[in-house]
Amino acid sequence: MSKELVVITGASSGIGAAMAKAFSNAGHPLLLLARRIEPMQALNLPNALCISLDVTDGEAFKAAIAEGEAQFGKVGCLVNNAGVMLLGLAHEQDPTEWTRMLNINVMGVLNGVHAVLADMKARSTGTIINVSSIAGRKTFPNHAAYCATKFAVHALTENIREEVAMDNVRVITIAPGAVETELLSHTTSDAIKAGYEDWKTEMGGVIMPETIAEATLFAWQQPQNVCVREIVLAATKQQ
Ligand code: NDP
Repeated sequence: MSKELVVITGASSGIGAAMAKAFSNAGHPLLLLARRIEPMQALNLPNALCISLDVTDGEAFKAAIAEGEAQFGKVGCLVNNAGVMLLGLAHEQDPTEWTRMLNINVMGVLNGVHAVLADMKARSTGTIINVSSIAGRKTFPNHAAYCATKFAVHALTENIREEVAMDNVRVITIAPGAVETELLSHTTSDAIKAGYEDWKTEMGGVIMPETIAEATLFAWQQPQNVCVREIVLAATKQQ
């Protein structure tokens, strides 16, 4: 099995932390990136460099990649997982929440792509995995701006996949349904949060971050000439 450097954004909680453990168990050195450094260090994983990064800062993203590569060699896989979900009704929501989501969920992913893709093309190998959402395929109540960001992630991922396919670089979309993480906690409306919790209960519970991490590892572990273009996975009872 390859022991190439795997970079994971949003590794300080939820799906990203579960991915860090799964890729570490598979023997990979890791570059873990999120704004909060302590929770990443607390994972206590071997060969893991943790750097505090805001993914909206493209230059800082490039500097972090350079630091990781100086320690562990070239990036084999970048997982653009960092994201926020600020739910709200379009006529009520504070537009600064839309800007925040667009910057983190879309510009953050593009910044990651920009930091590694030219070098992957030049080396004719590499994998970029973008975490979108089932909300990048269908809409949900109170999700207009969040869906806009995740439809964008689906679109840019598939577009870039086509651009670099002949360079032997894989670009993959992971689209989870509802997962038990901190994601909902940043939504400001208590009524929307309560409704979301009820919805989770109605479907008999959501899936766990480890399930997403295993699916992501599966996609990565295919041979380089096999690209699992997209995985959509959700609780069986989720609509
Ligand atoms: P969490 O809130 O638990 O984790 C989000 C991660 O993103 C944190 O590590 C956070 O770290 C990081 N992050 C947020 N903003 C920034 C930023 N500006 N710069 C760097 N890192 C940032 O949620 P999840 O684990 O659920 O979310 C991970 C991804 O999965 C997101 O893209 C989300 O949209 C997607 N997803 C989640 C679903 C769910 O139901 N949970 C369903 C479908 C998709 P820090 O705050 O330390 O910066």
